[in-house]
Amino acid sequence: MRTFISFTEALDCVLAHASLTGTEFVPLSAAVLRTLAKPVIARDDLPPFASSAMDGFAVRTDDFSLDVHRDVRVIDHIAAGDDRSLVVEPGTCMEIMTGAPFPYGADAVIPIEWVADRQGDNVRFDRIPAPQKHVRPAAEDVQKGAKVFQGGERITPAIAGMLASLGMDPVEVRRQPKVRVISTGDEIVPASSGIGPGQIRNSNGPSLRAQVVEAGGECKVFDHVPDDPDAIRTVLSDAGDSDILVFSGGVSVGEHDYVKQVLDEMGAETLFWKVKQRPGKPLAFGRLGSTLFLGLPGNPVSSAMCFEIYGRALIEAMLGRSSTRTPVLKAKLGRSVRKVEGLHFFTRGIATTDATGQLTVVDTGPQGSNLYGSVVMANCIIHLPQHLAEVLAGSLVDIQMLPWIGLTPKPETPTA
Ligand code: AMP
Ligand code: MG
Repeated sequence: MRTFISFTEALDCVLAHASLTGTEFVPLSAAVLRTLAKPVIARDDLPPFASSAMDGFAVRTDDFSLDVHRDVRVIDHIAAGDDRSLVVEPGTCMEIMTGAPFPYGADAVIPIEWVADRQGDNVRFDRIPAPQKHVRPAAEDVQKGAKVFQGGERITPAIAGMLASLGMDPVEVRRQPKVRVISTGDEIVPASSGIGPGQIRNSNGPSLRAQVVEAGGECKVFDHVPDDPDAIRTVLSDAGDSDILVFSGGVSVGEHDYVKQVLDEMGAETLFWKVKQRPGKPLAFGRLGSTLFLGLPGNPVSSAMCFEIYGRALIEAMLGRSSTRTPVLKAKLGRSVRKVEGLHFFTRGIATTDATGQLTVVDTGPQGSNLYGSVVMANCIIHLPQHLAEVLAGSLVDIQMLPWIGLTPKPETPTA
């Protein structure tokens, strides 16, 4: 087991142990926010046929080369969904609706607003458009055979729309990693409970579950177990179908921290324990059979930050995501921050763009790992490098946005 390793060593170790989940077909209606398992190749052109972009008349523009104001005869009406193969002969035109298949022979659509006069079957126009005007060619958007999406893309509403247009229903997605969240602690009671002396409500269970889901995992239950080796063993005995076990609490060196002890007894391999970071120094990571485990310190701030950094990366890697939701961005530090040299800091920050468009970030204020308000207030995590004791205002720092919060539109004054 490695111990007291750096943040990058810890993250690399987590990623090195992430194996891709299998794939499954799901109805497109259930595929939004899931991850495409394979590249998507267009089976059809999009649009599949040439159509009208306007309500108007499909004409042959040649007909008007000598006289823009000549009459042409309206010989048919084409509505969206018309399946006939129609031909516009010289001197004639067809009334056509938006989205209707464009007939052979014609080369432009004259919008209905350009009609100068209509007498029975004869129509005259104010002006004549250039050839191809108001015609949507087949394959303008996507050509049959084109690679439309890479495997690993997260299915956004827009991607779902494109998949539907291409007839990709059902769609092959990565199976969501099954994550079990286990909160430990004799002092912990459910959020729905009143609290007695010395008790606190389980805030990590619900928030970790939400983080798991946001990252793309599946978390049906979150358990709570007391600081009792037998109780921890019992929960672990039926956790075999999980891909990842996430423990909150019980991984420190306290007398009641039994999680590591029980995992060791059960034959788990701890890959690392303790990382040169704050918050979350006692972080543990390892595997129990084919199940990976992440032992997060119980402090709600540590739990939230460590999951966001390590748990999210693990889930996204297992999904084969082609991009993370929280890429590292460079931001200008708005005020100096002191830190402990030798530890990498995950400082809660508020990022804004200033008047010049420069991404700027300030810390949320007091950063105690028991101060959960700092997580609520933050929209990003600021990475402050291990080797520094102070990071000066004006320096460029790495930040990662918290995916559930967007950029703050206007500067806010954090409580100092
Ligand atoms: P531990 O890592 O078990 O030593 O816990 C560290 C601190 O986090 C203690 O003050 C615990 O009371 C608190 N804590 C542990 N688990 C939770 C939880 N699920 N929800 C809220 N606070 C917790
Ligand atoms: Mg505890």
